[in-house]
Formats: sequence, structure tokens, C-alpha cells
Amino acid sequence: MIVVLGAALGGLQTALLLAQDGHDVTVLERDPQPPPTDPEAGWSQWERPGIPQLRLVHLPLASWLQRAEAHLPGLVEMMTAAGAVRMNVVAPEPGLGGRLHPDDARFDTLAARRPLLESAALHAAEAAGIRIRWGVSWLGLRAAEGGRVPHVTGVETSAGGMSADLVVDCTGRRSRLPARLREIGVPGTLEESGERGFTYHSRYFRSPDGTLPADTFPLVVEHGSLGLLRIPADHGTYSLGLISRTDDHELRDLLRDEDAWTAAVRLFPGAGVWLTGRPITDGVQTMARLTHRRRTLYDVEQPLVTGLVAIGDAWALTVPTVGRGLAMSLHHSVILRDLLRERAGTDDPPEFAAAFGRATDDGLGRAYRQTVSYTRHRLAEMDAHEAGLPYEHPDWLRARALGRLAQRDPDALRAERAAAHLLPGAHEELRAPSITDAVARLVSESKGLMPPGPSRAELLDALTS
Ligand SMILES: Cc1cc2nc3c(=O)[nH]c(=O)nc-3n(C[C@H](O)[C@H](O)[C@H](O)COP(=O)(O)OP(=O)(O)OC[C@H]3O[C@@H](n4cnc5c(N)ncnc54)[C@H](O)[C@@H]3O)c2cc1C
Repeated sequence: MIVVLGAALGGLQTALLLAQDGHDVTVLERDPQPPPTDPEAGWSQWERPGIPQLRLVHLPLASWLQRAEAHLPGLVEMMTAAGAVRMNVVAPEPGLGGRLHPDDARFDTLAARRPLLESAALHAAEAAGIRIRWGVSWLGLRAAEGGRVPHVTGVETSAGGMSADLVVDCTGRRSRLPARLREIGVPGTLEESGERGFTYHSRYFRSPDGTLPADTFPLVVEHGSLGLLRIPADHGTYSLGLISRTDDHELRDLLRDEDAWTAAVRLFPGAGVWLTGRPITDGVQTMARLTHRRRTLYDVEQPLVTGLVAIGDAWALTVPTVGRGLAMSLHHSVILRDLLRERAGTDDPPEFAAAFGRATDDGLGRAYRQTVSYTRHRLAEMDAHEAGLPYEHPDWLRARALGRLAQRDPDALRAERAAAHLLPGAHEELRAPSITDAVARLVSESKGLMPPGPSRAELLDALTS
């Protein structure tokens, strides 16, 4: 039997994939209540303390949609039937002149308020006959002694002990895995994490007539020490989120105020029309310390533990601005399913743990490292902006130049979006000489220039006046 810990999207996707292959799967969830079917009740009433990012709009990457359609039949249809918006992430860009190619369907994805996605995934899991035990907390691990490293044989829960052939930790960003492992004698997981991160200051709206305003600016815009994230969602709802550095206390204090928040959004060209919606939450909601964190439970030479794997956020956190959480999590679950297929189970636990570690790094290591690099450079750019200086790291100048090129060159736009959405072939597209030459030209033209948008002084002035 496989025990999956956590019945949010990551755990439900994993359980669905494994159950389809005939595995006997039980999912344990600490929170007591499954989601209501009605998306409005899910948004306003569902108590779900285990998912701190529940009352948010989520936009998974296009690669998530492709994998979900390929491996989880019916799930995307259930989400769209419930109201999730299917959208194309190159369609609104001015560089495209409004023309889509037939193969631009690869840039399709979905967006919705998170409870809607949770509710659809739960119904898919229930329809597949998966056992989900709500209100059961995972409290500890059972382990067999005598091997080179502890071998997990089950879990301790608030409802008693359970044996398992494999335990899959899908308990997300608050996973207590390192503490649970120490209790069974694992000397300490190899964990790396960012020291600094971002704060989201978000508000949620519903358009007055149920249709979303036209796309007047990109989904993510970054100006100096502030970014703006716009995500369209189901039933005419959408979110606008300002992004600052968590250690930027000046902005943190100012952006709590609705008027200052609104003034900050207005500084982004084209964003004003998105302020005409009716707020569907009170005040400005903040979520701080959003950064990266990764745990390595498996060394190529020697796994630290066997009989247990960590999937999705329980394995690695990435900053939400790049929107990779759900895509990486589903990819990770597919890696686990494929390895179980290939090895016909987990009969050789050390070999299985090492193979899963290698497959994780091969499949997801690069995507994770890219987000670490994004986080470091973007924080450094924000620091530099505050000091009135341009940020001139060559990698960042190239990334920024590609972003600008993508606004006017359809091939560059597709290549940039394919890379951002973790689509196959993106790196070859980015290496096209027409793109690399144009990027090099733009880099040399932009040296020494401050990024577009208000200076720090203008920003603070707009927020305080
Ligand atoms: C501000 C923000 C915005 C984001 N936006 C996006 C986006 O637009 N697109 C995207 O792809 N990703 C986004 N993400 C990332 C995404 O939310 C995560 O990748 C995703 O939630 C991971 O799902 P999960 O199921 O692995 O973990 P979680 O959603 O964290 O769920 C963990 C589950 O485990 C349960 N649990 C915890 N402890 C226990 C226990 N001891 N016993 C039993 N159950 C337990 C919890 O109750 C919960 O149900 C965002 C994240 C944040 C913070």
C-alpha cells in the first residue's frame, strides 16, 4: 500500500496517477473538511488552514496543462466545467500582432481560484475510488532497524499507526519532514533555502459584468523595487498582486493601506482599468518570505532514508512569481509513477531511492536552479533600484533583453514563453541566431540605463501623497 500525505492538489495528482496504475493508495489529510462543490462557497467559506495559499488565484504553467491532459484524463475538463478559464499565454502580447499559429495551442493553460481547482481534483480522486481520510494528521514515521539507513515502513497518525510499502510526503510548504526524519535517526536532511524573499500584497476582484477587462498589460511586470502580477480567473474574478522584497519594510508598511496599494497599481501603465472591479476580499492580503527551499533526501552515493519520497513543495519550493509550483509538482509525480512502473515496485529500496533522486534531479533540477537564479537576480535588482543604480549582471541583462525583444518579435516571444512555461524544445528555440544576436545588441544598448518605471523616490511619493 502507498500512503500519500496531504490531500491538496499535489497529493491528489499523485494519488490519481498511482491509482491509475493499480496501486492501492490511501491519502491522509489533516484538515477536516473537503471542499464544497460551489466555487463561491469554496472561496468564501472553506476552512483550509493547511493550504496557506488557498485564497489565491492560481495559474499553472502550460506544461502543467499538457501533462494533466496527457496523464490525468478528465481532470482538466472537470476544472473548466467548474469555471476555470482556459487561456493562451502568448495571445495577449503586442509582439504577436493578434495572430496565433496552429501550434500555439502549446501555450494554453488554465487559471482559477485555488479552491475550484482543489474541488475538481478531489472529485476526480473520489471518482477514481481513492480513499481519502480527512481530519487525520501525520505525526511520525515508523522505521525498520538494521539496514544501512532507516527504512520507513509506515506512519504514525492521529488515528493510529499505518503500514505502507511507500510513504509519499505531499504536505507542501509547511512539511515537517526534517523533524520527522530526525525522530527515526536520519542525521539531518540536506536542506538549502533562500535567506531573502518576496512579499505579495494582493487584492481580488470580480468584474462588474462578469467578463474580464481586455489584456492591457502583461501578466507580470517588474519595475524597480515593485512588481505587479495579474491573474485572470473563473467567473469574472481576478487578482492583482504587488510584489516587494520582504525586507523592504518601507513598502511593506505603506502597501497595507488600500489607497497606497491602489496608487502603486496605477503606476503600472494599463493597470488602471483592472481597478474597476468589485473587491471580493477585505483589504490588502499579504504573504511574506516567499523564497526557494530544497531538500535532498537521496544522495547518489547513499540515500539518507528509504521507503519515503517527498514530492512537489515538500521537496522544493520555488518563488510563486515564476508560477512553477503545480507544474513541477505534477512532473515530479509522473517521475515517481514512471519509476514505480520501470522497477515494478520498490523491492530494492536503496536502489529505488537513489534512482528517484537521480530522476528528480534530471527532470526538475534545472527548473529549480533557474528559479533560484531568478530570485537572487531580482532581489539584487530591487536593491540596486533602491540605491538608484542599474543592476548589470550579464545573465540578468540578457534575461531582461530577451523580455524586451519578446514584446516585438513573435519568435522571441514564443521562445521566451516556451522556456518560462517549461515546454519541450524551449532551449533550442532560444539558441536561434536571430534571437541571440538581437539579445546581444539589446544588452549593449541597455548598459548603464535604469529600468523603465518610477524611481524609488517617485514611487514613495506616489504612495504617501
Ligand atoms: C502566493 C503563492 C502563489 C502561488 N501561485 C501559483 C500559481 O499561480 N501557479 C502555480 O503553479 N503555483 C503557484 N503557487 C505554488 C503552489 O501553491 C504550490 O506549488 C502548491 O500548493 C503545492 O501543492 P501541494 O499539494 O504540494 O502542497 P500544499 O498546497 O501546501 O498542500 C499540503 C497539504 O498537506 C496537508 N498537510 C500538511 N501537514 C499535514 C500533516 N501533518 N498531516 C496530514 N496532512 C497534512 C495540508 O493540510 C494540505 O492539504 C503559489 C504559491 C504561493 C505561496
